[in-house]
Amino acid sequence: MTSLPIRIAVLHFSHETVTFLKNDTTLDDFIYPGSPAYPGSPARGEALLKFDPKSYMGGFVKMAREFDGVELVGIESPWWPKTSIGSGWVTNEAYETLVGRMIAELKASAPFHGVYLCLHGAMAVRGVARPEAELARRVRAVVGRQAFIAATFDLHGNEDEEFLKHADMAFAVKYFPHYDGHLQGERAARTLVRAIRGDYSPASATVKVPIISPTVLQWTGASPWMDLVQRALTWEAREPDLYVNVFFGFPFADVPDVGMTIQALTNGNPELASEVARDMAQAAWRQREALLNSTKVHLISEGVALAKQAVSRGETPVVLADHSDRSGSATWLLKEIMAQDLSNTLIATITDAAVTARLKAQGAKAGDAFDMEVGGLADESAGAPVRIQGTILKAVEAYGQFWVSIRFGRDNVLILSTYLVQIMEPFSLKNMDLDIGAFHVMAIKSRVHFRRGFHDNGFARTILLVEPPEPFLGTVRLDGLPYENVDLKQFYPYGNPAFPK
Ligand SMILES: [Zn+2]
Repeated sequence: MTSLPIRIAVLHFSHETVTFLKNDTTLDDFIYPGSPAYPGSPARGEALLKFDPKSYMGGFVKMAREFDGVELVGIESPWWPKTSIGSGWVTNEAYETLVGRMIAELKASAPFHGVYLCLHGAMAVRGVARPEAELARRVRAVVGRQAFIAATFDLHGNEDEEFLKHADMAFAVKYFPHYDGHLQGERAARTLVRAIRGDYSPASATVKVPIISPTVLQWTGASPWMDLVQRALTWEAREPDLYVNVFFGFPFADVPDVGMTIQALTNGNPELASEVARDMAQAAWRQREALLNSTKVHLISEGVALAKQAVSRGETPVVLADHSDRSGSATWLLKEIMAQDLSNTLIATITDAAVTARLKAQGAKAGDAFDMEVGGLADESAGAPVRIQGTILKAVEAYGQFWVSIRFGRDNVLILSTYLVQIMEPFSLKNMDLDIGAFHVMAIKSRVHFRRGFHDNGFARTILLVEPPEPFLGTVRLDGLPYENVDLKQFYPYGNPAFPK
């Protein structure tokens, strides 16, 4: 074991790409200025290492610095694009430019004993079939075989055996919502330092499980998704130095390595890695039917009617979550809320870049009358614009976009945003000066992440997931999507693949 100083390069490149969206994710989307509270992108050095202290990066940096003699080198990396998860294919130009710069700087700053790749796993790039594995391949070519490469992933990563051919270690979050990003960052740091010091010899196994599932079903707060988490934790508890990743996969990226994947990582024990990966894969396969039937999704009209009934019984607040809206501009739920005349309802948000830009240019402010058509039009899944007549409560620039809240109808509030916003915590709307506790119904755009702040903490009394009748992008009916790189017949529940022995 060496106690000599250790140099570790830190890189970040993450996106969860909805390839069915019409707006590509461009180079420009990855480049934006920072503010005191919000570092810009790309970032390098301490600015990069300081990103996201409560998640993967924070966990990695914190743990790595608990070891003596570890130097972290933040290589200039893009943060998430400003479109967040509301944009389609990453352009080839964006990928090649950003990765090209990372690799050039890595070369210029070499040598390194190790590299940490802070990834998501569901990035889809035009002309690059497996962008995370390709990044690992290029990093390996710079740092050589003697260096160790460790990565962290979101469980929505679409990965196959390719990634761990080039990298040594991967650590994915286990929970959805993803509570354990910080923990997985810590594990990556500790295992990477141990490997560099000769105390951990990575041996892994990867097994693809032919199950494809819409993300709205994958909440790990209930069985059988919870059982998969528990099985992985049990394996980790009984076998020291074993790490198990269960990638649920991200079905809205039309990529060849879509679907569920299991990875097992051991300390020099390839047989154990194979045994555990196979066991986890078989456990998932045995429960395939239950996995695909774990959450009830209502039609919007039905969900709004159920919300009304819940309000009359006093079971508030009610969350109406339109899980299917991938652009943020969808107006189906807003329209139905107006048609069924709900009151004390918060709608957060409708994405409308044009209307928010116009309001910003006009110097919109509290007290102004509002009469405009909002939302819709992004594509057919967003529906038609809806006319809203009311009064502006607040108009504010925050988190890199312009927000406007409008009071209308019977004590309803609509929030407009520039980009897609997924409300995960009710109190994240604090800077809109709203009395969150006063609403009976909160209509949001989220699939599972909202359960963090509305369900797993006991805030909402009633949770209703809804989607429009048509199988738009974001639907649970994946066979309604125009895949070109995926043959759904190779996956349960759309085909009957033979798996496994
Ligand atoms: Zn995720």
